[in-house]
Amino acid sequence: MNVGESIESIRKQWGKKLFILGHYYQQDGVLQHVDATGDSLELARRAATEQKAERIVFCGVHFMAESADILSRAHQTVYMPDIHAGCPMADMAPLREVQQVWNEIQAVTTDLSLPERSAQAGWIPVVYVNSSAAIKAFCGEHGGSTCTSSNAAKVFQWVFNQGKRILFVPDEHLGTNTARDLGLPDEAVAIYDPGKKWGGVGVEGIARARVLAWKGYCHVHTFTADDITAARRQHPGAKIIVHPETPAVAARLADAHGSTSQIIRYVEAAPAGSTVVIGTEFHLVDRLARQHRGRLAIFPLRQSVCRNMILTTEAKLLALLEQWPAEQVVRVSEPLRVNARKALARMLEVK
Ligand code: SF4
Repeated sequence: MNVGESIESIRKQWGKKLFILGHYYQQDGVLQHVDATGDSLELARRAATEQKAERIVFCGVHFMAESADILSRAHQTVYMPDIHAGCPMADMAPLREVQQVWNEIQAVTTDLSLPERSAQAGWIPVVYVNSSAAIKAFCGEHGGSTCTSSNAAKVFQWVFNQGKRILFVPDEHLGTNTARDLGLPDEAVAIYDPGKKWGGVGVEGIARARVLAWKGYCHVHTFTADDITAARRQHPGAKIIVHPETPAVAARLADAHGSTSQIIRYVEAAPAGSTVVIGTEFHLVDRLARQHRGRLAIFPLRQSVCRNMILTTEAKLLALLEQWPAEQVVRVSEPLRVNARKALARMLEVK
């Protein structure tokens, strides 16, 4: 038997006691063996509802497997085929720094010597799911919610409906793009650089902000205005859609921006014969191009690969299913799990 056949044979033996999840950015060789494919939000929902499985295998990156573990039940164990598949953006927001900034901004907005507006509203943390369990726990403990790129606008609105401001961690671009989608003026959105005094925006900048976005980014999605200009020149008449982790200066020049699922729906709705240029992880764009060949012409904005996502391979998946090594279990400690679960549960409740 080859690798693929061996995986399928083990899946058959385990039946419903094994559930394999795969993120859209995984390679086709891996995705052919999963029970569910999706973006972060879809997979979090599936992990939360999957009750029969005793073993959940997450083909994605570490923060996703942590979320699956946080939402799992007592009889379930979460594994990763490659435990080293992390996310550089998630690492840009260490807990100690986030706690320090949280204390700083509380102090600013309760300082009555500042103009009255600064004391008007408190803060709620909103944390992108692309973050560690420790950051999600911090968020849950302080009344906040996680979000994904699919539902960030709804979660932001949930905060604004309470008359509060947002500390958004860790992606400055999703934070600023979402704030602007909701019509916030530029002066109400600030990027907080934890390496600088008062985040580089000063006390007045913090006092004015309704959204303070942590200075973090995903290198896979750092498309530029030049990328958009080059694509327009190369593919006249094409529609360009980018992921909202793309810097605003480029996202504004595109025809649309949307989460992975929204990009897939955009492609499905595109008229036959048209051309679509997509700014997101290359494996997804390449798959969409093959799926829609003959109906649409699909091109990547730039060939950008997430090196962490491709750490998972068919061979590693098979090795996991054969041996179930304890060191490939993803387990979030109980104190973190309780608070992180609150943040994830709030997100799943926000409609
Ligand atoms: S695509 Fe970006 S945000 Fe997603 S896992 Fe890779 S590095 Fe992290």
